[in-house]
Order: sequence, then C-alpha cells, then structure tokens
Amino acid sequence: MVAINSWGRLGQFEHTVHRLTDRLSVATQLQHDRYGLAFGMGRSYGDVCLNPGGVLWNTTGLDRFISFEEHNGKLVCESGVLIRDIQRLCVPRGWMLPVVPGTQYVTAGGAVANDIHGKNHHKAGSFGDHVLQFTLARTDGSLMQYRPGDALFAATVGGLGLTGVITEVALQLQRVPGPWLAVETLPYRNLNEFFELADSSEADWEHTVSWVDCLSGEGRGIFMRANSVDAGNEQPAPARTIRVPFVPPVSLVNRWSLRPFNAMYFHAKKSQRTSIQHYEAFFHPLDKVLDWNRMYGPHGFYQYQCVLPRKSGKDAIQAILRRIAKSGTGSFLAVLKTFGQRESKGMLSFAMPGVTLALDFPNQGASTLQLLSALDAIVREAKGRLYPAKDARMPIDLFESGYPRLNEFLVHRDTGISSAMSRRLMSN
Ligand SMILES: Cc1cc2nc3c(=O)[nH]c(=O)nc-3n(C[C@H](O)[C@H](O)[C@H](O)COP(=O)(O)OP(=O)(O)OC[C@H]3O[C@@H](n4cnc5c(N)ncnc54)[C@H](O)[C@@H]3O)c2cc1C
Repeated sequence: MVAINSWGRLGQFEHTVHRLTDRLSVATQLQHDRYGLAFGMGRSYGDVCLNPGGVLWNTTGLDRFISFEEHNGKLVCESGVLIRDIQRLCVPRGWMLPVVPGTQYVTAGGAVANDIHGKNHHKAGSFGDHVLQFTLARTDGSLMQYRPGDALFAATVGGLGLTGVITEVALQLQRVPGPWLAVETLPYRNLNEFFELADSSEADWEHTVSWVDCLSGEGRGIFMRANSVDAGNEQPAPARTIRVPFVPPVSLVNRWSLRPFNAMYFHAKKSQRTSIQHYEAFFHPLDKVLDWNRMYGPHGFYQYQCVLPRKSGKDAIQAILRRIAKSGTGSFLAVLKTFGQRESKGMLSFAMPGVTLALDFPNQGASTLQLLSALDAIVREAKGRLYPAKDARMPIDLFESGYPRLNEFLVHRDTGISSAMSRRLMSN
C-alpha cells in the first residue's frame, strides 16, 4: 500500500498502486483488479482522483506519442502523456493544444476526464471539444474507440474517470505562429468594470482571465487579455523555478499575510501595460513555484471553484466576495473569468455559459467548512455548479442540481470502477 494525497493535501490515503505501461493490456489489468480508478498526475485538488483502500491505476507510464500529422495538426498519444510534453513537441512545429489548464503537469487522460477549461473558453470551449477520438478500456475487458456523437464519448468527457480508463487520445491541435503571446494587463475597480472588460474583449482577444482581490469586497482586480503573435526570433528567458522545500508547521496563507499581499499585488500591477510573454509563463505561471501547495501547511487547503449563469452571476459573485472578505480568509491568487456560450460535450462537464470564480482556502477545520457552506447557498440560489476537479466536500444536493444530466451519465458508468468522490456523491 502507498499513501497518496491529491493537490489539496487534505489527507494521505493508503492505496494499492498499479502502474500501467502497455496500452493494449490495460483492459486485462482492469478485469483483474476491479474497483480501481485511473490516476494521472494527481493535480486534482480533492477526492476525484482518490480511491482510499482500493486500487489506483497510475497512467503516467502510458507516455508514448503514437502519431503526429504536421500538415493538419492531428496528434495521437497515450493518455499518460503530459500537456507539457505535447506542447514542447508541437509548438516548435507551429501547433498548440487549443485548451490548456493553469498547470502543464497534467495528463491528456486527466484533461479529458475533467474536461478541463483554459483562459479561452469563449473562443475554444473546453478540452473535450478538441478530442477527435479516444480508446477506452473497461472492467468487462472491452477496449473500444469512441468519437463525438457516441454516448460513451459524452459520458467519458468530464466523466471523472468513472466510465473506464482512456488508453489513447486523438486531438486536433490549433495553428499558432510561435510560442509567444501579446499580453495586455488592465486594472479594474469593481465587478461592473470587470464585466465591461470581459465583454468588450471577447471578440478580439483569444485569452482573457483576471485576478480578483478576494478581500476587497467590491471585487477590484487585474484583467489580462492575450493573443498569439509572431515575435520573430525572440528567445524565452531561461525557465527559472523555485521549490517550497518543506511543509511549514502553519499555513503561510493567513489573515496576516493575505491582506498586505493582495494590496501589494494590486498596486504593483495597476498601471496598464503590454508585454510579449512565452506561453509557459502566460498559461502556467504557478508552475514556476514547484510544490506551492505545501505553503498551506500540514492541514492542506480546499479549492472552491464555481460557475454561475450570466444572469445571476454578477450579484452572486458580489455576494461571495463580500462573504469571503468578512471571513478574512481566502487566497493570494483568486481567479475570475467569463465562460463563452458554447455548451460542453460531456454529460458531467463543468464549464457552462457564465462566470467562474476559483480560490483556495487554508483548511482550518469547522470554520472553513462553515464558510464554504455559506458560499454553497449563494451558488445554489444562483443556479450555479461547483467543479468536481477541485472539490472534496460539496453536498449531494448541490451536485445533483448542478449536473442535470447525472442520471443519463449513471447508465454509462463502469460498475467496476469507484472513487472517493463517487462514493460520496453517487453512493457507490
Ligand atoms: C495549479 C493548478 C492549476 C489548474 N488549473 C486548471 C484550469 O485552469 N482549468 C481546469 O479545468 N483545471 C485546472 N486544474 C485542475 C486540473 O487540470 C485537473 O484536475 C486535471 O484533470 C488533472 O489531471 P491529472 O492528470 O493530474 O489527473 P488526476 O488528478 O490524477 O485525475 C483526475 C481525474 O481524471 C481521471 N483520469 C486520469 N487519467 C485518466 C485516464 N487515462 N482515463 C480515465 N480517467 C482518467 C481520474 O480518475 C480522476 O477522476 C488545475 C490544477 C492545478 C494543480
């Protein structure tokens, strides 16, 4: 047995880990184990990638590229290949993944299973929109290919690993002039200004995202928008990373550090500016600090990410920010961004038209859970949903109301697969 935790470090749980290395024998392994769960890089924050007491099928040994058609940007790879490695292979050849998350240390299989989104949802939708086909192994021993339009495709995209283990994925990449982006940074003083900036940027800017000061109450922040550019022979600065070397005895993110940090960050960035940035710096700024999740100390942290329909979104985000400001807790990096109109392909996909807010809370036990319940009430009232990839505690009723296609999904579940999240929210 091996003790495994997820990115939120809320607890270590014993698992039997079987590392998958041969994609053709995965279905046989699944038949043999039963009640296991695929595990990629464990970059999910809560319990979607955990199966305490059971088996984890570690997919990082399924790390081969199978084919790449340079003339049309069609890539086929095994499911344990990292987003980082796809980009490093394809960007120098003029192609890029159309959707990437805030860290490049996630697997292609994990990106499909959580149907992840990036900073360009308004232009590109979510990861599943660019999947041409995948191969899925199930615990009945089957190994089959699925395409958009197949029910098992829609169940597996955003299916939280519960329909089988994806062994290989075919992806349609997007043409880019190179690795560079022209980035504009603009301050906003409140949510009205945020929505004005988001709306006026959607037509002309491929990527939009903002940092919001979660303690300001009114929602001041810094808005960033970017487009790919041809920057000629510009060379990236050598990627410098630092590491949080150990777990401090108490969370370094607390009411004494948070307020000055947020104020300093806002004032440092508040003048409008433009810059040319490498895609790794723009898309994955947190990757510069390895093991940053240790900063939250021995008890870990909860991430809370909701999406709210556009109509109720502004008032609900305002109410959430005021509630957080009152509590005095929250995170250095709270992210606020709009999603576009595109409906996701997956039955349980998170992204929907509206506005999403994501932030971390150091785990302080009952008081943190109480605060998160208060935020749930606002999300419930606004007809929003929470992101399972980030969750470790959402109540069942909020899951059920947020995901109206749940019953349709359950028909396609692989009954030989189980996770801590499925036992918590789907009763098995
Ligand atoms: C710093 C940071 C920033 C992030 N930013 C974003 C963001 O901007 N947008 C976003 O959407 N998410 C974001 N995330 C979340 C992350 O992208 C997802 O949790 C992603 O799914 C993690 O991939 P993984 O390979 O680590 O999978 P894991 O966390 O190991 O597993 C995630 C789920 O996928 C399933 N799974 C994994 N591999 C397979 C497979 N081969 N077949 C079937 N199921 C499989 C697992 O069973 C589990 O249910 C971020 C996470 C971090 C730590």
